[in-house]
Amino acid sequence: ATPTAIMVGTGLGAQRGVLFKNATALETAARIDTVVMDKTGTLTKGEPEVTDLVADGMDEQELVALAAAVERESEHPLAAAIVRHADDRGAPRRPATGFRSIAGHGAAATVDGRRVLVGNRRLMAQEHVDLGALAAHRDELAVTGRTAVFVAVDGRAVGVIALADAARDTAAAAAAALREAGVRVVMLTGDNEATARRIADQLGIDEVVAEVLPSEKASTVVSLQDKGRRVAMVGDGVNDAPALARADVGIAIGAGTDVAIETADVVLMRSDPLDVPVALQIGRGTRRTMR
Ligand code: ADP
Ligand code: MG
Repeated sequence: ATPTAIMVGTGLGAQRGVLFKNATALETAARIDTVVMDKTGTLTKGEPEVTDLVADGMDEQELVALAAAVERESEHPLAAAIVRHADDRGAPRRPATGFRSIAGHGAAATVDGRRVLVGNRRLMAQEHVDLGALAAHRDELAVTGRTAVFVAVDGRAVGVIALADAARDTAAAAAAALREAGVRVVMLTGDNEATARRIADQLGIDEVVAEVLPSEKASTVVSLQDKGRRVAMVGDGVNDAPALARADVGIAIGAGTDVAIETADVVLMRSDPLDVPVALQIGRGTRRTMR
């Protein structure tokens, strides 16, 4: 690569807030044929809000108070939304002890001497909680694109809390632009399959890898590379960092976590998904000038 071509490419990117950290990233961007995109915080705004509640054998205010007591100790975006919702509706604040965060599953703590779990189906299965009629409620909420988590008290399922996280305005346009450029687009998420599918449908993305544990995100990238794909990973979270590192090009959302930004080769300062096709285009342009 000529230094001039690299300078021009880097400069073009910088004008648009697409920061290439090194010349290799610019050159590799030209050869990407697959883009793996994290869902939460990358394709969506990452600002979930509680939309629905189903309580079983407990009043709603109590359900919310118990869930919030656990989630107050957690740093997960879903946790923050549940706490905000509890405070907004004036649910009583309860102290929690023995908090435990279970990556990719949920959280647990003791509240008023009762063991409270908040998390996905996998967490409930692991803890042998029978979901009863609540499983059907969750399925109904999931097909609408909402993320639903269960609440269990002393091993009994007592409710479902549904949260919605709006797609970023340009997420669908970004997926379309990548497809037009001949690039395969894959959505990658720890969220449940039905929720992820629905959001992918709305965005015109047909490949979805869902219910992936944080530790498995990087393996998804590697398995595509093993099939000969040249992969860019786009993400914002702490749990995206290993995948960003393994990808041929790691692209971080500027509004994302420090770890993601430090690990990535490219940073999208405007946090705009449309800058993903732009980054690849700049790479391709640089390669053309090199010839
Ligand atoms: P991603 O960031 O890809 O959406 P995570 O691995 O952080 O996924 O979480 C995957 C799933 O685990 C969430 O969709 C949720 O169902 C569950 N989960 C994780 N942490 C929590 C929490 N603190 N409270 C409730 N559910 C949680
Ligand atoms: Mg994310």
